[in-house]
Amino acid sequence: MRSWARFWDALAERRAGARSPWPAEPAAPIGILLPEEEQLRRRLAALGLGGIVAVRVTDNRAVMVSLSKERVLRIHRGYARASDRVLRAVVRFLSRSTPPTLRRAARHEILSFGAEAPAGGPAPRRRASDRPRPGDLVHTERLAALFREANAAHFGGALPELPIRLSGRMKSRLGQLCLEPRTGVPFEITVSRRHVERHAWGEVADTLLHEMVHLWQHVHGHPVDHGRAFRAKARELGVTPAARRAVRRDASRRGTAPRD
Ligand SMILES: [Zn+2]
Repeated sequence: MRSWARFWDALAERRAGARSPWPAEPAAPIGILLPEEEQLRRRLAALGLGGIVAVRVTDNRAVMVSLSKERVLRIHRGYARASDRVLRAVVRFLSRSTPPTLRRAARHEILSFGAEAPAGGPAPRRRASDRPRPGDLVHTERLAALFREANAAHFGGALPELPIRLSGRMKSRLGQLCLEPRTGVPFEITVSRRHVERHAWGEVADTLLHEMVHLWQHVHGHPVDHGRAFRAKARELGVTPAARRAVRRDASRRGTAPRD
């Protein structure tokens, strides 16, 4: 009985906070309450951004990132939620030593984050039929590895690394470079899941390279089309410029699938 009484006394004391042996709990979890400006300042500094006087967040979507003469960085609030990869692009974009091509690629990466994750808005929803499947990962990782290799070998590493996704809805197309409708900024490469599952890897690789040539067009300010610049670059990479293939093995249905 005595020990119980002591126990309840101790508990009451702890509840009251008096002489508690435990440190007082903070009023709110540390970190969550850090203002976005401070989060961004710390993260960008950790990623190598130097020489900035202050960071100011903005809600103006027309100016995602800008640096004033006084070295005050203005950056959209939404970037507090961006991945390190996107913030590294911010650092590259702001660095004076970044060559113009890499700077354009960095700008692209910065803007495509804005397109993917509008500040305060809900994430874009995909229809149920087009959700990723567990088996996709092995293919998308292989495609991402090919993207990095080809980027280094043929594009001087200037292409921004876009997410690559398989689509179950692409029945008439093999691949597509997806552009944000409002800005025309590419944000994703989609490849037909049927194409990946049914056709030889060499053909799938050609599809990815085809879309990479389109991305190269965008990065260099060319129109994204199948014109002269596209054909020349595709030939240089050994990709058939006018790539179409029969999607159906059934000879009676002569459907062909373009690479968009
Ligand atoms: Zn195309």
